[in-house]
Amino acid sequence: MIKENLKYVEGEIEAACERVGRDAHEVTLIAVSKTKPVEMLKEAYDTGVRDFGENKVQELMDKIPQMPGDVRWHMIGHLQRNKVKYIVGKVCLIHSVDSLRLAEEISREAIKQQVEVDILIEVNVAGEESKFGTSSEEVIVLVREIAKLPAIHIKGLMTIAPFVENSEENREVFQKLKQLAVDIMRENVDNVTMNVLSMGMTGDYSVAVEEGATCVRIGTGIFGERDYSV
Ligand SMILES: *Cc1c(COP(=O)(O)O)cnc(C)c1O
Repeated sequence: MIKENLKYVEGEIEAACERVGRDAHEVTLIAVSKTKPVEMLKEAYDTGVRDFGENKVQELMDKIPQMPGDVRWHMIGHLQRNKVKYIVGKVCLIHSVDSLRLAEEISREAIKQQVEVDILIEVNVAGEESKFGTSSEEVIVLVREIAKLPAIHIKGLMTIAPFVENSEENREVFQKLKQLAVDIMRENVDNVTMNVLSMGMTGDYSVAVEEGATCVRIGTGIFGERDYSV
């Protein structure tokens, strides 16, 4: 099932790229494996997936030693400052940085461990109250502050679009995130690049790819529905 799902998703990404004249190699498929058992991750790994996304520090810590060493782990969930020390040096990208205090903690821990940490700034583009992320208005100020910190590097932006029935409704959200990245790039802030746009999930990744996503985070579309009752 996972193999077929992956094939389908990859085909959809390629089709979306083709529609807008993009190269499908520009898009990284992150398999979001939260709540799923390691056997399923291994199945995805065996069909070629190397990028996995998790949203909880504990689950990430449990899974990392059970998977091959060449997996690139992505922290995509809300991160508490007291848990930063567990994931610095273990994940390739933290997608969910939305405050200076969190970035300061990551920077401190990176120095301590003598590593460099790549991050994305999470933006709550649609302004949903239930969501984490900085606002579109505040993002540039936050970028300038975080850029000054040692051992931490801003690589781009991430957003979680609203849950919608029709993915077209999120096109504007993705366009806004892309535009924010362009605006930030124009500011030429030292230590900041905007090459990564992490946007698009199972329900709306084709639209996100059409609008410039370089990372799509797909869980249900690869591993099936999640069961939170167990
Ligand atoms: C769970 C999750 C996803 C994947 O969601 P699906 O709809 O299952 O593809 C993507 N991004 C984040 C931040 C998530 O928490």
